[in-house]
Amino acid sequence: MSERYKKVNVTCPICKKSNSLDIPSIVFSQKKIGTIKIQIPKGVVCPDHQFIIFFDSEGNVRGYEKIDISMAMPKKKKDETEIMEELTLKKMISIFGTYEFYSLIHAKIFNYPVFIVIGEDFKYSSNFLNKIGNSILPERYTGGRTLHLYKESDYDSIEITTKDGLLLDVNKQILQIPWEQKLKFEENIVNKALEIIDDQEQLFVFQQIVSDFCKEAECALDILESRNDISKKDLIKEISKRLFKPKINSYRFNLIVEFINQRFSPKFTEKIR
Ligand SMILES: [Zn+2]
Repeated sequence: MSERYKKVNVTCPICKKSNSLDIPSIVFSQKKIGTIKIQIPKGVVCPDHQFIIFFDSEGNVRGYEKIDISMAMPKKKKDETEIMEELTLKKMISIFGTYEFYSLIHAKIFNYPVFIVIGEDFKYSSNFLNKIGNSILPERYTGGRTLHLYKESDYDSIEITTKDGLLLDVNKQILQIPWEQKLKFEENIVNKALEIIDDQEQLFVFQQIVSDFCKEAECALDILESRNDISKKDLIKEISKRLFKPKINSYRFNLIVEFINQRFSPKFTEKIR
């Protein structure tokens, strides 16, 4: 595949309108097997819907998933006078888009590398964005995988060393999404934070929710380390008992498994029967 873009015909799963899209070839060339997920925002295929398309590595459409998010912020042009220190939650969402922002949070918490293709007018450095990302994590998790920025003219030189990274094109607003989970956890954090007006307080809310989650995951890890095997049901019961908290649901449980796999090793979660 030497062409920079591959033309793919995409149909909206809701209203059935279709459009042909240019998908960067790098998306297909990086993954030899498995499914590629790409997020299609409103206005790209049809004016009203956003969804995720699943492709095989040949670029054939294999399926669709509707994205149903309760909060949507309009995308707006960035203000030229905006200074870096003022990069608030709302601004981040307007720069990246709502779903894209949830994805960035997920990548940060669950330690996926991030590759962002930026336009000429993008004014934030990768250093700065990594610093912001780290600010929502407990100290011990801040040394993980990082975010990399590329200019569109450098598309050919992008080396995605880890094929399971998040790829985001700020101009075309598409993603390669390496995980299976829905982004309800991230949606919930952002919505809770947005209820608070003060920017510093918003960050506290972020840190608090992420830290609570990490504690549950560490508790699960601690239990798994001391056992040869354990059932999902018993593990959930044990976490609840140790942390004096109600039992977590299956979605939360899957997040914990993902966290342990990404941040520690799948050898622990393989013990779950
Ligand atoms: Zn539609």
